[in-house]
Amino acid sequence: MNEKSLRCKECGTEYELDASFVCSDCFGPLEVAYDFTGLDADEVRRRIQAGPQTIRRYADFLPIAAGASDPLCTGMTPLIRADRLAESLGLEEVWIKNDAANPTHSFKDRVVSVALARARELGFQTVACASTGNLANAVAAHASAGGFESFVFVPSNLEEQKLLATGIYDTELVGVRGTYDDVNRLCTELSQSRPWAFVNVNLRPYYSEGSKTLAYETIEQLGWELPDRIVCPVASGSLFTKISRGIREWLELGLVEGEMPAFSGAQASGCSPVATAFEEGHEVCRPQKPDTIAKSLAIGNPADGIYALEIARDTGGSVDSVTDDEIRAGIKLLAETTGVFTETAGGVTIATLAKLAAAGRIDPAERVVAYITGDGLKTLDATRESFEMSVIEPDVKSFEDEVEAVGAAN
Ligand SMILES: *Cc1c(COP(=O)(O)O)cnc(C)c1O
Ligand SMILES: [Zn+2]
Repeated sequence: MNEKSLRCKECGTEYELDASFVCSDCFGPLEVAYDFTGLDADEVRRRIQAGPQTIRRYADFLPIAAGASDPLCTGMTPLIRADRLAESLGLEEVWIKNDAANPTHSFKDRVVSVALARARELGFQTVACASTGNLANAVAAHASAGGFESFVFVPSNLEEQKLLATGIYDTELVGVRGTYDDVNRLCTELSQSRPWAFVNVNLRPYYSEGSKTLAYETIEQLGWELPDRIVCPVASGSLFTKISRGIREWLELGLVEGEMPAFSGAQASGCSPVATAFEEGHEVCRPQKPDTIAKSLAIGNPADGIYALEIARDTGGSVDSVTDDEIRAGIKLLAETTGVFTETAGGVTIATLAKLAAAGRIDPAERVVAYITGDGLKTLDATRESFEMSVIEPDVKSFEDEVEAVGAAN
């Protein structure tokens, strides 16, 4: 634990490490600042390698005590070399970081694990969040595991699978008639009067640090090397910017050598404020009203949009968008070539990767890592029409007739 303060990302003013998220001088967002002086790279590397098989192995880079509990054992998800996917895209080296393998099947376990450990350190008994679905799922589960009360707020039109997978945890599940941006505004207001830890509002500076662990794991799993390109979905832009921050920290400390990868952001065209600003050359995002099957990415007014734009431009990357049909095709392509079934957000990532590859915007020799941030079982409606089941009588003739009818290979 080397953190020393919260620091405004815009004006640099420093604050105590408590439950606050906005600079009282300039209204900029606060971020955790660390003091890494005296940290020896070889020693840190050894400490990481001897650590638990969870994100707690990166405690030196997280705003929580080294021994903070993580009852669901978050992280250390597989990094899979996807040669068949690469081949179908005309690329040579593609890796899939499968974060659907986390305890509640999305990358949100990382941010929640850190936020709840910090909530405990700050003395909160009730945790809460504004969510597009996966965050609610993770907050409810980790709250149950850790003995917190929880309130989770979601748009009421969420996928049924996500509601079911959340309600089971004895949380107060509140469906709000409105978009995520309405839910977020409500929670920001509530955070001023309720003594609750809203993980992505008043605890956002701690919460967002959890996403850095995706960068650390990727580097470790690549044998302490960097990829050339990262393809990553963008909702609020927090994940995208924190993967970049994690890599920058390790480059600066000498834990890894090389160049900052190119950062390719992925959005759904039905909610693409960051991709639109990127394409039009704007420095800020104009808010949009979401209309897409990628509900977990449906944030029309992204808090970290300006930082995501900066990173995409500074690293020679981009932020692109793909249609709902391309998203469905992306889910299918990933499933067929890797055996990984992702939710719509992963479809956005793979469809964007495919689009960049087809347009020749990725050098075939590049080492690419694509982040699969959630599980296909949570967005089943998106794939309902992608196949047909053969139904037969329980006899061989019936099977053979069917095989003939559908022209299946023997
Ligand atoms: C929340 C989420 C993201 C990205 O969120 P950010 O707000 O950009 O950090 C990506 N994929 C899935 C599945 C998510 O639930
Ligand atoms: Zn400030």
